[in-house]
Amino acid sequence: MRVLLAIVLTCVLIRVSAQTQPQQQWKGKFEQLDQILPTPNAYRTGSGAPGQNYWQQRADYVINVEVDDNTQLLTGSETITYHNNSPELLTFLWLQLDQNILANDNMTSQTKTGAVRDSVPAGFFNMMTGVNTSDYKGGYNIKSVKDASGKALPHTINHTMMRIDLPAPLKTGEKFTFSIDWSYTEYNRQIFNQRGGYEYFPDDGNYVYTFAQWFPRMCVFDDYEGWQNKQFLGQSEFALTFGNYRVRITVPADHIVGATGTIQNPKEVLTKEQQERLEKAKKSFDQPVFIVTQDEAIQKEKTKSTKKATWEFYAENVRDFAFASSRKFIWDAQSVKVGDKTPLAMSLYPKEGNPLWEKESTKAIKNALEIYSQRTFNYPYPVAYSIHTANQGMEYPMICFNGSRPNKDGTYSQQKLVGLVQVVVHEVGHNFFPMIVNSDERQWTWMDEGLNTFLEKETVRVRYPELYSTHGTPKGIIPFMKGDKSQMRPIMSNGDDMRYNEFGANGYTKPSAALTLLRETVMGPELFDKAFKEYAERWAFKHPKPADFFRTMEDASGVDLDWFWRGWFYSVDNVDISVEDVKWFQLKNEQMEPEKKTIKTRKGDLTAEKNNGSATDFSNGPEQFTLTNTPDQMYGEFRSRINDNDVRKKLEGKNIYQIRFKNIGGLVTPLVIEWTYKDGSKEIERIPAEIWRINENEVVKVFVKDKEVVNIALDPNFELADVDMNNNVFPKKASESKFDQFKKNN
Ligand SMILES: [Zn+2]
Repeated sequence: MRVLLAIVLTCVLIRVSAQTQPQQQWKGKFEQLDQILPTPNAYRTGSGAPGQNYWQQRADYVINVEVDDNTQLLTGSETITYHNNSPELLTFLWLQLDQNILANDNMTSQTKTGAVRDSVPAGFFNMMTGVNTSDYKGGYNIKSVKDASGKALPHTINHTMMRIDLPAPLKTGEKFTFSIDWSYTEYNRQIFNQRGGYEYFPDDGNYVYTFAQWFPRMCVFDDYEGWQNKQFLGQSEFALTFGNYRVRITVPADHIVGATGTIQNPKEVLTKEQQERLEKAKKSFDQPVFIVTQDEAIQKEKTKSTKKATWEFYAENVRDFAFASSRKFIWDAQSVKVGDKTPLAMSLYPKEGNPLWEKESTKAIKNALEIYSQRTFNYPYPVAYSIHTANQGMEYPMICFNGSRPNKDGTYSQQKLVGLVQVVVHEVGHNFFPMIVNSDERQWTWMDEGLNTFLEKETVRVRYPELYSTHGTPKGIIPFMKGDKSQMRPIMSNGDDMRYNEFGANGYTKPSAALTLLRETVMGPELFDKAFKEYAERWAFKHPKPADFFRTMEDASGVDLDWFWRGWFYSVDNVDISVEDVKWFQLKNEQMEPEKKTIKTRKGDLTAEKNNGSATDFSNGPEQFTLTNTPDQMYGEFRSRINDNDVRKKLEGKNIYQIRFKNIGGLVTPLVIEWTYKDGSKEIERIPAEIWRINENEVVKVFVKDKEVVNIALDPNFELADVDMNNNVFPKKASESKFDQFKKNN
């Protein structure tokens, strides 16, 4: 292609800066991710969708479990029917024994590192060192593993995993049914910072139980890595198979139980009045209906039934099952409309949660279900519970355990209110990622926590604008991004291998900030929302991997984002763009004699020639440049000619600004430039990240403006997560106020 003419014209403008550009150190920031992503195949396509031969396993559970309210012993008996849908022959099965994370020889305590300090709070010694300072004996007692005929099956326990050797290889399309009898003693959550546990309330002598990872569960076996075989060390979560659950839970007769699934025997476990109230709640879309009131719950705290009751729950197509039980529970519920579905939003909380919980918990479930459904797919499950705890935030299908407790006198700070709204929205939101869009949490924390933090933030932005903060936004991630890169790991790292504060940023807020940047600045809401929804719909009730997300976001938007994933997900670079210098030009008026300019520089007053330097403000006025007549030979074989005077006329009287941008942080990024004109008006101009595709380190860009510019500010609204605002403005003297403003707002 003939591009000579264009080159000559721009050369006039860039001749000075071209000489000063440093050697390019090319790092391939715009290269495709070809070598990094797995090769597409018949299971997972290059567009990021499940392939034509996509398959996944299934495990159905029937479980009977009893809670002993005196000893906190949990005794269970489960029957698992495992369906082999894979093209492979299986000779053994792997299960997860998560309770073994608290067994005597657990790997988590053995490998916990940390020093004894001069002074350590006694209650935290265990948490800080891994040394068990209580009498608690945790871990499973596996009593038996048998096939359907009652014959013992050989099995081997490997810390938090158990292999069962099959009597005969399990072929494609076959299923195998077996049962396990087990027990373990539930732990005090105040001592062991795990995801389930109980809390004891000494004032009335009652317990609130939240049972999580309480039964042996099937590991995922998939096309990507075979059996999931990473031990449960505590920080990284779970990889689980979908299936149907029928669970019978025996508890004291005055307990209220909430669980994954719907109650199958309300007539046996609820009073007539409670059943009527529950029916009323199913028709209430405006506000919650109390099924158990606070007065009724307080009454039960005192009487303490010694009888038992068995609650039966059934859940379809879930990847796990959790439940909560207590006689202290107040219970409210209401219906939520999402598409053609009307799930019941329900909260269970002791009086200690009020008045905050009765006001906010169920409302927050409703808001989460509505906004997440808009952005992904309609919430498909029949119920969504929020269960009160002192300080947790933990999710399971249809049920989650949430902290934020008012003071003893019932008062609560704004922080507690924000805390409750955020945690309920977040944990209910986990129904979508990873309970339904079932990514492998053990390997990739960001795939559920990052996507979920992003939608949590969006829900708060839309439904609670008064509580919206920088949490999970580009602005909010700046302090983390400013950190020492040599100590950081990229988002695409395993969660168990990160320090705790980095785990929080890499798993939650950095991916959320990145997605916010992607939506608001790189793609725009229309392209982003469609692609994000496409990913959720493609992978609902399936097992996506990182590449499936990366590819779908590009596939459905038509935007090449390889540079974005490479920079934000695979590197520890940050955004730090400096406005290195600005030159102001005007087309020379041929009648005027050019005068020699003196330009102020950062080091003092020197002539531009001497310093080859740059101005620190606009006080010296524009430099002049000339548009010469185009020599005939530059047109080559073209017969017609461009009228040079027409070109001159286009630029006459215009203000031409040449900005040199330097990429200090390493992340290639779009540019958001705010122009402030002499008449006080402002303009925001957006330049795509592709501006860095030729030179990743430094670019020179020319802008033509009708009006005279008095101030140029890069990233004025903190969209880009630029870690240093000091070098973002011109004239330089204005930078202080901009930086002060930034610090104030943070
Ligand atoms: Zn989470």
